[in-house]
Amino acid sequence: MTKRIALVTGGTGGIGTSICKELASTGHTVVANYFPADKELAESWLAENKTGNLDLHIAPADVTDYDSCTTMVQSIESELGPVDILVNCAGITRDKTLKRMTPDQWNAVINTNLNSAFNVTQQVVNGMTERGFGRIINISSVNGQKGQFGQANYSAAKAGLHGFTMAVAQETAAKGVTVNTVSPGYIETAMTSSMPEAVLTAIVGAVPVGRMGKPEEIAYTVAWLADERNAYTTGANIPVNGGMFMSA
Ligand code: NDP
Repeated sequence: MTKRIALVTGGTGGIGTSICKELASTGHTVVANYFPADKELAESWLAENKTGNLDLHIAPADVTDYDSCTTMVQSIESELGPVDILVNCAGITRDKTLKRMTPDQWNAVINTNLNSAFNVTQQVVNGMTERGFGRIINISSVNGQKGQFGQANYSAAKAGLHGFTMAVAQETAAKGVTVNTVSPGYIETAMTSSMPEAVLTAIVGAVPVGRMGKPEEIAYTVAWLADERNAYTTGANIPVNGGMFMSA
């Protein structure tokens, strides 16, 4: 296996942490992006997770800000080298029914979950096609596939993210770059632990596997897509949802 440089946005979050550790444990150099205001938290994250011989790093950028992403990728490239694996994982929720949703709540979710993919991917995609290798993995959601009450903003952003995946997959397929979406179901992280218990119990009751997913289960799928042997899967939307939503 060739040692590559992987960038994971939202890399210090619940799912992001597992993805960083999984990619690092398969032998890659991994950079966890974090929101700039969280510098101290990111430094303690690094101290806690950089164990054994895991080659982990951190890099600040607000993924909603194109210039911030340019600066981040330039500094990663000058300090470590070119990014061959990108995981767009940063995301937020601002749940409200459409009737009550403010423009700020709409825009924050579209900017963080969808515009971010453009802001970061454009920084690395040309280098990937020029070098003839790249893996881009966009973390969407089951709620982008089926819609969800109270999540018009999030469902729209996550569905849009897979549209982005399919378009960029076609633009890069002949150059050794694969672009795929992973759509998790309900996963045990801070994002879901803030949900009311009654809502979570009802959701888990509708999951055929009978439990929430673990961040490690998303990370395993991401590592499989990132593997250099996985060169023929592109433009796909891989569901990791315990069977809660199945489609042909
Ligand atoms: P977390 O909140 O734990 O992680 C999200 C990360 O994104 C955080 O580290 C957060 O930083 C970061 N982030 C948010 N805004 C920005 C920004 N503007 N710039 C840089 N970083 C930012 O959530 P999860 O780990 O649960 O979610 C990870 C991804 O998985 C998201 O895209 C989410 O939508 C998706 N997902 C999660 C599911 C779940 O059940 N947990 C289900 C389906 C999809 P900060 O802490 O500072 O906000």
